[in-house]
Amino acid sequence: MATPRHVTFQLNGRTVEAEEGRLVIDAAKDAGVEIPHYCYHPALGNPGNCRMCVVEVAGAPKPQVSCRLAVREGLDVRSDSPAAKRAQASALELHLVNHPLDCPVCDQSGECGLQDYYMTVGRYQSQAREDKEHKSKRVEAGPHVMLDQERCILCTRCTRFVDDVTKTHELGIFGRGHEERLDLAPDKVLDNAYSGNVVDLCPVGALTDRDFRYKVRVWYLDKTDSICPGCARGCSISVHTSTKRPWHNGGRRVARLKPRYNAAVNGHWICDEGRYSYKSLDENRLGKVLRLRPSREELSWEVLAAELAGRLRGGLAAGGPEGLAVAASGALSNEDWAAFKALFVDALKLPRLYFAADPDQVGEQDELLRRREKVPNLKAAEALGLRGGSFDALAADLAAGKIWGLWVIERDLDRVWGRRAAELLAKPELTVYQSPFKGALGDAYAYRLPATAYVEEEGHFTNFEGRVQAYRRALDPIGAARPDAAIFGLVAAALEGIRSREGAAA
Ligand code: SF4
Ligand code: SF4
Repeated sequence: MATPRHVTFQLNGRTVEAEEGRLVIDAAKDAGVEIPHYCYHPALGNPGNCRMCVVEVAGAPKPQVSCRLAVREGLDVRSDSPAAKRAQASALELHLVNHPLDCPVCDQSGECGLQDYYMTVGRYQSQAREDKEHKSKRVEAGPHVMLDQERCILCTRCTRFVDDVTKTHELGIFGRGHEERLDLAPDKVLDNAYSGNVVDLCPVGALTDRDFRYKVRVWYLDKTDSICPGCARGCSISVHTSTKRPWHNGGRRVARLKPRYNAAVNGHWICDEGRYSYKSLDENRLGKVLRLRPSREELSWEVLAAELAGRLRGGLAAGGPEGLAVAASGALSNEDWAAFKALFVDALKLPRLYFAADPDQVGEQDELLRRREKVPNLKAAEALGLRGGSFDALAADLAAGKIWGLWVIERDLDRVWGRRAAELLAKPELTVYQSPFKGALGDAYAYRLPATAYVEEEGHFTNFEGRVQAYRRALDPIGAARPDAAIFGLVAAALEGIRSREGAAA
């Protein structure tokens, strides 16, 4: 492939180097200069309809739109000259002619292109003498998106998204002149699998998130880089947490998930399944280390580790490693899988490991992002050389009484075995359930161990293509919850302690 040629051009009096043919708006951004714009989006093209990105070009008779102007040697561009600023202010004034003064109640407030550019290039003395055009303020566009037609500035980003990216064509611009408006296409509902992206794309408050709107002001949110655990794609996301004023978000700590640009994995988008997965993060959580059978008692991690290690040691001595089964989830991180292997394979040499995604951790796949495996990290188990057995075979062995111990990590066995699960779980003498969530059968085990959710720990996932990506801790764990790797490490250390004491006594 030919190496792209680089040229130098003048930007606001500075000499800047860029790839020949790159759009001026992008080259300026690379050089740290933000040129105001609404309609241009790097993944959706440059229709040039909003006219906000106008710049002054030496030798040109009138301002040019920088999203349709290519960089060439010797080009002399100014985005900050009086002529450029005047042109941008005029374009903004036109966008505001019919835009309602909703800012105090608008969810886009604080991250709105109209507000931001008004502060930098606005024309503060309005020349408008006529009433604004009124349109529908509350159109339920789909299950996740609310449309306020008055706020729309007709940039067409959302229509290009449903036409070019999802190809589902739910939205269009209808009418002419001052009656032009964004609306649903006849008989359509905005309910495609990626519909939430239009909220991110909309530069103003015309398309808002029905779940997020009116919950919390954006300036109270903290943002942490993370990876979506919703499927094997592993999209880059930003976790927006609301801990400064938890009452604003009904006590829910995660307020929303937003896509984080990653050219190699998800581009600018995420799917709705992943986007709204945060809603259950604070529900049905485990926070206590509990022994439920034979007697119910809350334990410290140290007491739990010693007790469990003792029972494992006794069970292994009496029933052998082939009678102890471990069912794990593809939700484990790379670090968890390494500790899993150290405990169950290297130390205990268990032949019975079960972690295939089928049948409870699979779902729909499509050509855009979504993968069939609805867990982020089965690939890491594969990379460690771990092999999992079939859940049907495990059920048969449980029913036949061949299993004396079962340790289940972040799996809901009722979704694997249906109504038979409770009966099968009653068979082994030792059962351990480890998960952030209680699950339908959380009460059926002898021990219940609280694990952290991905937003409460840091680690890495390996996606279906083998790409290793880091996620960061956004929140404190709930109660006594610890990362899975730490739990495996505690039990491994307690087992090692027993072994050393036995060795010393022999
Ligand atoms: S709703 Fe938003 S993204 Fe869609 S055309 Fe209007 S301003 Fe643009
Ligand atoms: S495609 Fe998968 S990883 Fe990406 S947002 Fe959706 S569920 Fe999450």
